Amino acid sequence: MTTVKTINGGETTLSQDDLNALGAATRGAIMAPGDPGYDESRTIWNGMIDRNPGLVVRCIGAADVVACVNFARERELEMCIRGGGHNIAGLAVSDGAMMLDMTHMKGVHVNAEGRVAHCQAGCTLGDVDRDTQLHGMAAVLGFVSNTGITGLTLGGGFGYMTRRYGWTSDNVRSFEIVTADGKLRRASDTEDSELFWGLRGGGGNFGVVTEIEYDLYPVGPEIIGGAIAWPYDNAGEVLELFREVNESAPPELACVAAIRPAPPAPWLPPEIHGKLIAALFVCDTGPIDEAEKRVAEIKSFGNPVGDVVIRRPYVAQQSLIDATQPNGRRYYWKSEYLPGVEQGFLSEFMKHAEGTKSPHSAMLIFPLHGALSNLPEDHSAVGNRGTGMVFNIAASWEDPAHDDQNIKWARDAWSDLKTYSTGGTYINFLTEEEGDDRIQDAYGGNYERLIDIKTQYDPDNFFRTNKNIAPRS
Ligand SMILES: Cc1cc2nc3c(=O)[nH]c(=O)nc-3n(C[C@H](O)[C@H](O)[C@H](O)COP(=O)(O)OP(=O)(O)OC[C@H]3O[C@@H](n4cnc5c(N)ncnc54)[C@H](O)[C@@H]3O)c2cc1C
Repeated sequence: MTTVKTINGGETTLSQDDLNALGAATRGAIMAPGDPGYDESRTIWNGMIDRNPGLVVRCIGAADVVACVNFARERELEMCIRGGGHNIAGLAVSDGAMMLDMTHMKGVHVNAEGRVAHCQAGCTLGDVDRDTQLHGMAAVLGFVSNTGITGLTLGGGFGYMTRRYGWTSDNVRSFEIVTADGKLRRASDTEDSELFWGLRGGGGNFGVVTEIEYDLYPVGPEIIGGAIAWPYDNAGEVLELFREVNESAPPELACVAAIRPAPPAPWLPPEIHGKLIAALFVCDTGPIDEAEKRVAEIKSFGNPVGDVVIRRPYVAQQSLIDATQPNGRRYYWKSEYLPGVEQGFLSEFMKHAEGTKSPHSAMLIFPLHGALSNLPEDHSAVGNRGTGMVFNIAASWEDPAHDDQNIKWARDAWSDLKTYSTGGTYINFLTEEEGDDRIQDAYGGNYERLIDIKTQYDPDNFFRTNKNIAPRS
C-alpha cells in the first residue's frame, strides 16, 4: 500500500491490488518511498529541491506510459514527469505525486540519409550527440550535455547552433506523445498539427512525450571552439568585444559571455582561481579553415589568462561547461530576454557581477538572434522571435545556510537589469516562485492559443506539475 496525492488536493491510498494491476500493465520498475532506486529517481540536478513522490514508475517504453496515464487518470492521481531532471524549478518532482521517470528511455536511431534522429524522451543532450556524431551530424541542442532533451525542447531550447538554425523546437519534425485520454499520438505538421504547434514551446502541458524526431545538420566531428578568459580588469572591453562579434559574425560563430569567479580549471592559472574573470565560450560550426579565421580576432584580443579555443571534437564542446554545473549543488536563477546589449545594460551587469556571493555563481549572456528571427512570431508556441539575447543570473552555492544571501544577490541583480528586458522571459529558466504573470510574459501573444490547445487536449488539467497553462473552465 502507498498513498498518492490526487489532482483535487486530497490523497488516495493505493492497495496491493492496485499496484499489482499497474505492475501487470508495465515493464518498468515500480517504486514506493524507501524502495531501492526510489531516491535515485527523485533526486534531481538542483540540490534545493528535496521532494518525495508517492510512487515512481520507471517507464521502459510508450506502452508503459499509456498504462501509467490511464492508471493515474482513472484514480485522479497527480502525475509528475521526470526527464533529465535539470529544471531549475524542480518541475520533475512533486511531493506525493505519481512520478513517471523517463530516464531509462534512451534509444536514439539516426537516419543519416534522411537527416533525422528519433530520440526517446529520456535521452540527455549527450546521448543524442554521441549517436548523431557517429554520422558527422548534430541536432540543435543546448550547452550542458546532461540536460534532458525533452524538457529543453518543449520549452524552446537554444545552444551553440541557435543562431544558425533557430530554437531547438524549430528543428523538431514530430513528437510522439501520450495525451490525457491515454492515446498515443504523433504530432507533426500533418498530424495533430495544433498540438504540434503547442508542443514547440508549451512545456509539459499537453501529455507525456515518448519520442522526439529531430532534423540533423552536418557538423564536426571536429569544430573550432572552447573557452577564453581575461582578468576582470578587462571585463568592459571583453563585453564590448562580445557585442561586436555578435553583431558582425555570421551565424556559424556562437559566442557566449560570462562573468564569474575563475573556477579551479586546469586551463586557468592557479593564481587567478576564485578571482573574477570575463570569459567567452566560443563555438564555430562552420568549415574549419573559415572558423579558424573567424575566431582569430577573439584569440588575439588583449592578454587572456587562459585560452582553450582550439580544434576539438564537437562532443567535447558540448560538454565543455558540464563541470561548472554539478548535480546536487544549490542553484537559483533569474533571467530575461534582451533586444540586444546596450552600454547601460553592460555597466549594470558588471556592477552586479562584482557583488557575487559564491565562487560558483556566474552571470551569463547568450546570443539568440539569427535564424529564429526569420520565422513569424506565431510559427510555434515559443515565440519571442525578436529577441537578441538572453541573460541568466545563475547563483550557485553549497551551504544551505547561504541560501538567503545568494538568492537575494540574484533577485537584486535581476530587479535592476529587467529594465532592459524585451518584456519576455525564457520559460525553461523560470524558478519555482515565478507563476502565472511570468508564464504569460514568456508566451506573449501566443498564450491564448496555448490555452485553447490545453482545453482541447487536457480539459481537466491532468498535466499540471509544469509551468501550467490552465484550460478554460
Ligand atoms: C545545467 C543546465 C544547463 C542548461 N542549459 C540549457 C541550454 O543550453 N539551453 C536551453 O534551452 N536550456 C538549458 N537549460 C534549461 C533546460 O532547458 C530546462 O531546465 C529543462 O526543463 C530541462 O529539461 P529536463 O528534461 O532535464 O528537465 P526535467 O526537470 O526532467 O523536466 C522539466 C519539465 O519538462 C517536463 N518533461 C520532462 N520530460 C517530459 C516528457 N517526457 N513529457 C512531457 N513533459 C516532460 C517535466 O514534467 C517538467 O515540467 C539548462 C538547465 C540546466 C540545469
